[in-house]
Amino acid sequence: MIIDQAIIQPLLVRMDAYAPVINLAGRQRMLSQKLAKAALAAESAPDSQLREASRAELSVALAEWIAANDALRHGSDELRIPRIVSAELESEWAALDHDFQPIVDAAQQIIAGNDEPPRAAAILTHEAPFLARMEQIVGLFELEAAQEVARLRIYSLAIAAAVASLLVTLGWFVVRPATRAIRTQVDELEHRVAQRTADLAEMVASLQHEVAERKLAEANSRRLAAQLSHADRVASMGHLAIGLAHELNQPLGAIANFAAASEVILEQSPPADDRRLHQYLRQISEASLRAGQIVHRIRRFVARTKDDANDYEPVDLAALIREVVDLCQYEIRRHETTLDLRLGEHPVQVAADPIEIQQVLVNLVQNALQSMLAIPAASRCIAIELEVDDDWATVNVFDNGPGFDAADLEAPFAPFHTTKAAGLGVGLSICRTIIAAHGGDIRIRPATSGAHVAFQLPVTQPNVSLANEAEPFEIMDRITG
Ligand code: ADP
Repeated sequence: MIIDQAIIQPLLVRMDAYAPVINLAGRQRMLSQKLAKAALAAESAPDSQLREASRAELSVALAEWIAANDALRHGSDELRIPRIVSAELESEWAALDHDFQPIVDAAQQIIAGNDEPPRAAAILTHEAPFLARMEQIVGLFELEAAQEVARLRIYSLAIAAAVASLLVTLGWFVVRPATRAIRTQVDELEHRVAQRTADLAEMVASLQHEVAERKLAEANSRRLAAQLSHADRVASMGHLAIGLAHELNQPLGAIANFAAASEVILEQSPPADDRRLHQYLRQISEASLRAGQIVHRIRRFVARTKDDANDYEPVDLAALIREVVDLCQYEIRRHETTLDLRLGEHPVQVAADPIEIQQVLVNLVQNALQSMLAIPAASRCIAIELEVDDDWATVNVFDNGPGFDAADLEAPFAPFHTTKAAGLGVGLSICRTIIAAHGGDIRIRPATSGAHVAFQLPVTQPNVSLANEAEPFEIMDRITG
């Protein structure tokens, strides 16, 4: 179509040029007749006036007739007549001159006033052969045009055939091999994809198997960690039990004494001292409360660790530290150690399993007490400090012992790392597991003297009072205070 538009259509447009040729040839035939008519009229007019008019008409007709003849023979841009050159046409034009020239001469004689016969007769004599030859010339023009159209048809058919064979050649030599090559590659690709899919399916299956195995291993390790943590706590209980038994002795003894004193007062009838009786009874109730509290603490501490982190509850860290200090009170006194507690005035809320955080603190306090056995009692001091910022609550535990090896502050957290003859070396490792599970961090901090261990927990609602948690300790403070 592009070739048709670019080459054939312009050529066909050029063919239109033949139409004006044929029109002009027809007009010239008509002018020939007009010429003959005017010549006859000029010769045979009855008076000089009519003769003059016929001569003028003849002059105009002759000029137009000659112009038309020139245009047909040599071409005319003005009349859109192309110059058509062919041997046959040239010989026809030459032959036409035999009739053309005598007609022109005769007409010019008549126009010049030399109008006696046989001028018009000469025109008439040459007109018939002139028109016949002109007819022939027009026929040749038409033939030329038809041949041109036929040639163009052949060109366009040849071009179409060339394009078609080009397409076939392209199809056969380029597209077909290319299609084959593409099909081979697609087949190969499909094969590779199928193979990869199979490999992937195998990998997915083995990954699923691995994930299942890892989940099982994780569940096992969680269970073992919980068991180990529990064992560690039970071991800690060994140390604490003596102190707790001693502490229980005191309220129980007080209960017995006050009960006996009350009995003495009651034996007197009426009771001699109502006021003291009431005071003893109140003290009995307070002492039994304290004993109950101690037993409650022991039961909570030895209780199994909860597995599920979702069970974390809001805990006031300051109150929890006080509870641990209470729990370790006897141990601290036994080791003749001073305790410096810096907890601030406000509750510090964290989301935690309180038993686990207690276990961490008990471990740190016991480690501190044990590390100071080698130094004089007067120098033994443990400081527990609670710091809070917007995001973190930090518990710092300091002691005056020999401290850690500054070259490797991570080593003590490795499981079974111990320098003690009877040590298990799992305390700090369990502490790290517990604190990490709470989203926090525990580290040994560099210290110029003694030891400094610090753990951090994310704060949930800083400085919000926890009424329920605070209450038991207020009672404790009153009792111990
Ligand atoms: P264990 O107390 O059974 O040895 P831990 O994991 O609690 O296990 O402690 C590991 C080691 O870290 C201890 O053996 C001790 O060498 C060292 N360590 C722990 N706490 C202190 C401390 N406060 N001062 C100096 N060394 C300590």
